[in-house]
Amino acid sequence: MATISVRDEATELLQGLLRANTVNPPGNETLAAELLQAYLEDAGVECELYAKVPERANLVARIPGRGGPTLALISHTDTVRADPEEWTLDPWSGELRDGEIWGRGALDMKSHVAAAAVAVATLAREGFVPAGDVIFVASADEEVGEDFGLSWLCANHPDSIRADYCVNEGGGDRLVINGRPAYLCGTAEKMSSPFILRVHGRSGHASMPGIADNALVRASRLIQRLAEYQPKTRDLPEAAAFLQLVGTNDPSELDPPLRAVVEPMLAHAISPTIIEASKQTNVIPALCTVVCDCRLLPGETQAEAEAEIRAALGEDNYDFAWVEGVGGTASPLDTPLWRAIESFVDELEPGAALAPIVNAGFTDSHFMRSAFGTVCYGFFPMRAMDSEVAAALIHSADERIPVDDLELGTRFLMHVARTLEE
Ligand SMILES: [Zn+2]
Repeated sequence: MATISVRDEATELLQGLLRANTVNPPGNETLAAELLQAYLEDAGVECELYAKVPERANLVARIPGRGGPTLALISHTDTVRADPEEWTLDPWSGELRDGEIWGRGALDMKSHVAAAAVAVATLAREGFVPAGDVIFVASADEEVGEDFGLSWLCANHPDSIRADYCVNEGGGDRLVINGRPAYLCGTAEKMSSPFILRVHGRSGHASMPGIADNALVRASRLIQRLAEYQPKTRDLPEAAAFLQLVGTNDPSELDPPLRAVVEPMLAHAISPTIIEASKQTNVIPALCTVVCDCRLLPGETQAEAEAEIRAALGEDNYDFAWVEGVGGTASPLDTPLWRAIESFVDELEPGAALAPIVNAGFTDSHFMRSAFGTVCYGFFPMRAMDSEVAAALIHSADERIPVDDLELGTRFLMHVARTLEE
């Protein structure tokens, strides 16, 4: 009977969360926080809301432990936008159809939010006393990152969320590597380090291109060079264990799903994303700005990367400036949390490997690592849904999760809370 209740409870809670529109911007995560608060308090779990502004609350709840190492289960309640025109079903319907729950955030990451809440509520109702406090954190503003969510909690309410160990998003996909099933575990992530190119020319009347020097045309040549640029690969200690399982660090030898995991671990990556030039059709722009998303490897400095990027761009009339650099942290592998996740994988699928990866994208794990030195991993096991299918649905249309995977994730989080060693 217990099986049915965890599954149904997680389904119902996820449906409620999906029906609360928390598209960021503007966020409105208080809708989700209050829903979770009502659910958790009903199970006897004490909750606290922390909000920089009233409509963007973060929820923190806790099961008191016996003074051992603390475990934070963190997740974010905001989502990216969704265009209903592109969807088969209403993105805020939370509809259950053919064993899958549909809606924006079903994968990223309201499923994980619901699973963690149900895990905590179930353990609390059982009267479970963990080794150390188990802390449930459902935070705002991960997708935009304007300091309403976990970064703000770390700076303003550190005692409410400080933890020795932490499980977050950023892993759990199942792949087959050299014939052996493997579950990916995010143990490190790249630094989000966008830069801006200001390309200079000379303005003039657009009716006579010959008299001016069009900065937009100049910029297009530089963008082309960035598109053709092959960044230098590096042997990253954080990637070594994974590459050993793979048996090669030549991504061209690998199947697409595995290649998509390996490639980001080898070098920095650049994507030009925003361009701005003249505001008027008949004026040739003297300035064109190009913003590039850029992800550096953990340990790689901006100065090192800049030298390589400038060499690829060549001599031209431009200024190069970093916009910021956030993230790029890693956690060690030989830890009690690693063993707790490994024992789950071993029960789930004997012989399967737990494979540490460097995430290409940024997650809130970075804030826990840098604020408290927390050992932070990204793991939410997915087995029913193919990892390639899931990857294509995140931030895209028709996002949905199989109920089987929602239940699996809930059981995983309960397993970690129960087995984390003293
Ligand atoms: Zn996310």
